[in-house]
Amino acid sequence: MMMKEKPVVAFISLGCAKALVDTEQMMASIALHGYPIAFDPDDAEVVVINTCSFLELARAESYDVISEFEYKKGAGEVRAIAVVGCLPQLMGGELNVMFQGVDLWIPISREANIATELDELLGYGPEAPRKVTPLDPAPRLLVTPPHTAYLKIAEGCDNCCSYCLIPRIRGPLVSRTSESIVLEARQLAQMGVKELNLIGQDIAAWGRDRQSPKGLSGLVRELCGIDGIEWIRLLYAHPASIDEGMIEAIASNHKVCKYIDMPIQHSENRVLSSMNRRISRLGLISLIERIRARIPEIALRTTLMVGFPGETDAEFERLLEFMDVIKFDRLGAFVYSREPGTAAASEADQIPEELQGDRLERLMALQADISLEKNSALIGSEVEAIIDGYPDDEGNGARLIGRIRAQAPDVDGIISLVGDANPGDIVKAVVTTAGPYDLEGNISTAGQ
Ligand code: SF4
Repeated sequence: MMMKEKPVVAFISLGCAKALVDTEQMMASIALHGYPIAFDPDDAEVVVINTCSFLELARAESYDVISEFEYKKGAGEVRAIAVVGCLPQLMGGELNVMFQGVDLWIPISREANIATELDELLGYGPEAPRKVTPLDPAPRLLVTPPHTAYLKIAEGCDNCCSYCLIPRIRGPLVSRTSESIVLEARQLAQMGVKELNLIGQDIAAWGRDRQSPKGLSGLVRELCGIDGIEWIRLLYAHPASIDEGMIEAIASNHKVCKYIDMPIQHSENRVLSSMNRRISRLGLISLIERIRARIPEIALRTTLMVGFPGETDAEFERLLEFMDVIKFDRLGAFVYSREPGTAAASEADQIPEELQGDRLERLMALQADISLEKNSALIGSEVEAIIDGYPDDEGNGARLIGRIRAQAPDVDGIISLVGDANPGDIVKAVVTTAGPYDLEGNISTAGQ
C-alpha cells in the first residue's frame, strides 16, 4: 500500500537561542519522519510555533502569533497548528480554552515525540523507531548560517533567582555528558560549522549535577581539539558560577573568543540579595578585575534589570555609576516583569511602569556612550572577522556583513566590510569606523 504524502511543515521559533536549538532538533525529527520542511510558513500546510513564556511580553508575542495562525487556519490557508515549547510547559490546559484553533499542544517535556504526535494528529500510522544509542545527540536542521551554530550543553537551572520563571518552566540543571556534547560538536564541524556558541541557562554551572571533575574548562579544552572549529564562544554564565578554571580556559585556548556573557542584573547589594543572585557588589568588582587582569583584551557582555521591586532612586543612580566605572563592552537591559508564581512578584514595593521606563532609557543612553567609546578604541586596529553574508542576502551588495570575535550572533552588533571574501570565511580586517553598536572596516587578509 502506498503511504500518502506527508504535508509540508514550517516552524516559527520565538524566544531565545536555547529554544532555537530545540526548534532545529524538532525540524530534524519531523524531516526524518518524512515531512517536507518549508522555511516560509506561507509555503506550509502545517505550522509549528515554538513559544516563549518567561516574561509577560514574551507570552503576549506568543499569543499574537498563535492568533494570527488561527485566523489563517479559519481562512483555509493552513491545515493544522501545533504550539510547542515554553508556553504549554508553563500554562498547560488553560491554553485549550484560549485558543481553540490549535490542534496540538506539546510542552518541552514531550518535544522529542513531536513527529509521532504529528503523525497521530494527521492520521499516519506509527513508524519503526530510529535506532539511537544513549550518546547520540538529537539530529538538527540548522537555521543559522551554515558556518555558525549554538551548542546547548545543559538544560534547566538551579539558581532560583527570585524574579525568574525558568527553573519552573525548564526544571533543574541537567548537564549533557561531555561525550555527547563533543560528538555533536564533531558532527557540526563536519557540516561546515566553524563557530560554536555554547549555551545553557548558566553554562558556568555545567557538570555540577554530574560531579564532573573536568568542569566547563575541561569541556572547552576538548572542544578546542576538534578540527574545523575555529571560534568557541561562551554565552550566559552566572557570575557566581564563574571560577578560575573557566577564566583560564578562555585565556589559554586561542580558539576561545576573548568574550564572556555574564548577566549581573544589578550592582547594589540589597537588590542583588533580594534577587537571590548569590554575589555582592564587591564580589562582582573582584571577579571583573580578575578576568581583566588575566585577559586584558576580554569583551564583557552583561544584562541589567531596572525597576526591580524596591529599587530606590539612590540604588539606580549607583547602578549607573557602577556601569560608568566598569564600562561593559556590550550590555542589554530589561525592565523587571512581575511574573506570577515568582518570589519577587509578591514583594510589596513594585515600581510604577513609567518610572521603570525612564530608568531603562537613561541606562541605555549611558551605555550607548560607553559602547561608542569602546568601539572607537578599535579604529585602526586589525581584527579577525567571520563573514555571515551580504547585506541584502543576494550577494550583490558592495559590502559584506561579518562579526569580530567580540560580537556574538543575534545579540551584538556587526562589522560591515569592504573586500573580497565569501560567507563562512574568517578574514583579517582593519576597523575604519565605529558606532555604538556596529563597526565598519576593510578586509586586509583574505579568508580561509
Ligand atoms: S540564573 Fe538565569 S535562568 Fe537561572 S534562575 Fe537566574 S535568571 Fe533564571
